[in-house]
Amino acid sequence: MEFRDLKHQYQVLKPRIDDSVNQVMTECNFIGGLQVRTLEAKLADYVGVKHCISCGNGTDALTMMLMAWGIGKGDAVFVPDFTFFASGEVVSFLGATPVFVDVDQNTFNMDPNSLEQAIIAVKEEGELKPKVVMPVDLFGLPCDYDRINEISHRYGLKVLEDAAQGFGGEYKGRKTCSLGDAATTSFFPAKPLGCYGDGGAIFTNDDQEAEYLCSIAVHGKGTFKYDNVRIGWNSRLDTLQAAILLVKFDALEEFELESINTIASLYTKDLRDMVKTPEIPNGLYSSWAQYTIQVKDEIQRTILQNELANHGVPSMIYYPKPMHLQSAFHGNKNWVDLSISESLCKTVLSLPIHPYMSNSELNRVTEIIGKSNG
Ligand SMILES: *Cc1c(COP(=O)(O)O)cnc(C)c1O
Repeated sequence: MEFRDLKHQYQVLKPRIDDSVNQVMTECNFIGGLQVRTLEAKLADYVGVKHCISCGNGTDALTMMLMAWGIGKGDAVFVPDFTFFASGEVVSFLGATPVFVDVDQNTFNMDPNSLEQAIIAVKEEGELKPKVVMPVDLFGLPCDYDRINEISHRYGLKVLEDAAQGFGGEYKGRKTCSLGDAATTSFFPAKPLGCYGDGGAIFTNDDQEAEYLCSIAVHGKGTFKYDNVRIGWNSRLDTLQAAILLVKFDALEEFELESINTIASLYTKDLRDMVKTPEIPNGLYSSWAQYTIQVKDEIQRTILQNELANHGVPSMIYYPKPMHLQSAFHGNKNWVDLSISESLCKTVLSLPIHPYMSNSELNRVTEIIGKSNG
């Protein structure tokens, strides 16, 4: 059994993907081809944001958006403590300081109360300037944007939605990538919308920001190609990846999101009496980058993970270590209590899930968990 079955997906989409790739090979428009602009227009339209700027990966997308907002030394950026390393890494990379915020036990997402406490603590100390809040739509589920946006804007902070895992999700009728002041996503192969290599995108409604982002992603270009108006770098989505994403985006919209949501509800129906299953608050829709359960403690998790492995079922721990305990952040100050994040790292387990998972595969997983539990 595969954890996320990209081979199966390719078999189903093969004729369309091969056609799309062959077109690029025939035209040899490998950089900046028409497919890149077509994809950007489609994604912007889908999420309901004016500009989509594609780029090299989700980490570059976050970095460039923070650069567009002038984030650097002396600035505080509020990041959930329970997320993938890149969310905090980009902040430190730019010389700013990541302030880690605790998460909600039920949704795994940034806890608005902890966020407000952290902003107040940083303001009171007076050393760092609170600038940006970066909620992460973890495992495909949008954060509590009503509260996060209200708190952030009340203190004069901008909201950067890290939707690397969240493409396709919905918050009260609005799509992810449209829920903050700007948003980014990743097309890493295993994300809800993945390409066949690295890729990413930034979403903003602001014309000036969009122009700046297009410029820094291509060596700080101006309107005349050989007059560079600023120092940038090279972060582009190539045409082959865009061609693949055009097909994968259609599949996501046509049936993959529906299919993965059906599988997630079957999991929850079968597992909810045995382990703590993921909760989707009313009005929210997940794109299920992961299906993550919680067990009693680390010992139980090890037993369960071994039991699954013995039956050929892969499972993953996202994430075994909170941000504030990462070696690279050693020396960073903790501003708020981070105990939920710490305890989740000991009790979470992500199970195989993807839009092509069969009922018999699903039953195999839930049966092993049932036996291990009983
Ligand atoms: C994957 C991921 C990123 C980084 O995306 P890449 O395309 O791998 O650079 C950033 N944030 C989160 C939450 C992610 O899951």
